[in-house]
Amino acid sequence: MSEETDIDPDPGLRYPTRPGRARPYGPSKRDNFDSLKKSAQYVRGVGPKNAARLRKLNIKTVGDLLYHLPRKYLDCSKIVPMNQARPKRFCTVRGNVIDAETRRTYGGKTITKFVLTDGTGAMAAVWFNAPYMAEAMKEGDVVVMSGKVNFYDMAQMVSPEFEVLGTDEAEALGDMARAMPILPVYRATEGLTQRRLRLIMGNALRLALKDVRDFLPPAMLRARKLPSLPDALRKAHFPQKMKEAETARKRLAYDELFLMELVLALRHKALKRDDKTHRVDVSAKIDEHIRRLFPFQLTAAQEKVLTEIVGDIRSAKPMNRLLQGDVGSGKTVVALYAMLCYVANKRQAALMAPTEILAQQHYQTVSRLLKNSRVRILPLIGGMPKRKRRESLAAIAAGEVDIVIGTHALIQADVNFAGLGIIVVDEQHKFGVMQRGSLIKKSLNPDVLIMTATPIPRTLTMTVFGDLDVSIIDRMPPGRKRVKTWWVPRRKLPGAYDFIRKEINRGRQAYFVYPLVEESTAEQTRQLKNATKMAELLGKDVFPEFRVGLLHGRMSSEEKKSIMLSFRDGKIQVLVSTIVIEVGIDVPNATMMVIENAERFGLSQLHQLRGRIGRGSEESYCMLFGNPRTPEGKERLKIISRTSDGFKIAEEDLRLRGPGEFFGTRQHGLPELRIANIVEDYEILRVARRDAFSVAQKKSVTAGGRGVPIDGTYYGAMLKEVRSRFADMVELIGVG
Ligand code: ADP
Ligand code: MG
Repeated sequence: MSEETDIDPDPGLRYPTRPGRARPYGPSKRDNFDSLKKSAQYVRGVGPKNAARLRKLNIKTVGDLLYHLPRKYLDCSKIVPMNQARPKRFCTVRGNVIDAETRRTYGGKTITKFVLTDGTGAMAAVWFNAPYMAEAMKEGDVVVMSGKVNFYDMAQMVSPEFEVLGTDEAEALGDMARAMPILPVYRATEGLTQRRLRLIMGNALRLALKDVRDFLPPAMLRARKLPSLPDALRKAHFPQKMKEAETARKRLAYDELFLMELVLALRHKALKRDDKTHRVDVSAKIDEHIRRLFPFQLTAAQEKVLTEIVGDIRSAKPMNRLLQGDVGSGKTVVALYAMLCYVANKRQAALMAPTEILAQQHYQTVSRLLKNSRVRILPLIGGMPKRKRRESLAAIAAGEVDIVIGTHALIQADVNFAGLGIIVVDEQHKFGVMQRGSLIKKSLNPDVLIMTATPIPRTLTMTVFGDLDVSIIDRMPPGRKRVKTWWVPRRKLPGAYDFIRKEINRGRQAYFVYPLVEESTAEQTRQLKNATKMAELLGKDVFPEFRVGLLHGRMSSEEKKSIMLSFRDGKIQVLVSTIVIEVGIDVPNATMMVIENAERFGLSQLHQLRGRIGRGSEESYCMLFGNPRTPEGKERLKIISRTSDGFKIAEEDLRLRGPGEFFGTRQHGLPELRIANIVEDYEILRVARRDAFSVAQKKSVTAGGRGVPIDGTYYGAMLKEVRSRFADMVELIGVG
């Protein structure tokens, strides 16, 4: 019997000290990665009981075990004698526990304290208000701990990282410190100790590392300065130096990101595989005709994205492009240009909005811009009379309509186009890679241009939208000014009111906003009360000389409309509101906004709110009131005061909240990553994406492909790895 199948419940201490030998890179006849696919129970030290515990950690096979990476490390190579530990410094010490106590203070708090000694001195480990820590160690235990040293009666560390060593581990610490100077600490589970896990990992590596085959070509590893896969796995578990652990993790994170990007790159490639049914020309004459319709010159930023878009239009391959730009940056105009290129070539265009209201708005905007042309525009909105709808559908099918504007129902239902050339999708960012798959499949290879007004952080552009080409309008049309934003302390409230009064006397108007935080009814009622009270207070005590209006979600639409009109016409100077975002009013003369409870809102929300002012030629001011309790809350208000760039704000928002919170990323079809983090590993992501796209360009690299050798490089292994790690994604987006 070989060692692999030998189940030994108590193997003793054996850590791997030599790397397993990797198989040569390249195709192989043997395909069953041997021990990696076997049950974890094949590893020495894993009996049925431990196998069950491992399953709780989602570890079933030997391969799973190898990818269960430490969540942190304790650097024992840096162990210092206790009498040399310097105050206010981080260090690691090792000692025996000689005293343990948990007591209550007069204030009713608990203090848990252990005293350790290493022969040179003593040091305490202290936890406040964590009575459960009383079980963490007991007298006689040998403990390694690290943290910041301070003095309070004696040298101590508050809430240190620590590990209790097993007796044999402790005895062997001299040897071990040489063999394993860095102690891995794993995510563990009830009944499975760190020590046991370490033993199991050591055995798993010894058993299976020889079967780990690298799926990245050696040249790629050299270029990226990454270790081989077996090397990375070994060093991630048992590094000799912290640096090794970092490099190992980098390789494993790169793998994950590279493979995910490869799926996206393959989809990008697949979308471009078939030619468009109709090719379109954009002649100088057409260009001139279209431009003549616009009452302004396009900005440099618009010209830049237009060049990219026209490139796609002229290409034989379909366009799949994301057009990003803040609200008002001029996206609609650019999209309209693209649509008109098709109209000029006797093809049809469809513009889809996420809601009826936005569809209406688009219809009005486009009609206004095209009023001096012969372009035939048709709104296709729900709730149309049946007969009208039937007639409209007939006109579309007969090619008597050039541009159809409606909601998403446009391409789903019974609509037949005579010759659809381009679909423009507004605000489609609510749908991720997977949802878009079905969207585009439904139509016949037309060009697809997706517009989004929510600035998307680069990390998400590379993942959730990773299969699209991207154009960004990064400058506003002339005339739009930066909104000056201040975070105002309470005590300066009177000053702020004086300032607002002065501006109103100059003819300006102001919003006071209590934005809706949650959908709950209790919350709405509370806010409504606040807003109502505030409107009263402002009207009576603060601005008795002005007219103060109130707008909230419980009003009838008639009431709302009348208030909004009064504000637009300047009959109301101060508008107190709970729902400014939803109503979408555009009042260029409103130049001031006060946001109450600003600490309760996300950065992107604040930025959107602020977008309601700064729409005219006058200087605009946003004043934030709020009392953030957390450092993060403070940082948000500082960032929003400092930055007006929507992309930077989105970036910061993502950093502060994490991808899941920011975008509900899971819903958006981003696969779950085990090692990499798209925010923290942004640099790796960027490189991995570039590499993946360059690999996907090779002719024989396709999702279902075998990756036969090209230029001496074999890609089969990585394609196989993609299919096994991202099976769902490959399947769902229909690559191959
Ligand atoms: P978006 O769709 O990005 O929100 P729009 O295309 O609706 O932006 O443009 C916002 C406003 O700016 C519109 O009133 C539009 O007519 C105007 N606009 C667009 N481009 C320019 C430009 N180059 N110069 C001046 N005004 C422009
Ligand atoms: Mg618009």
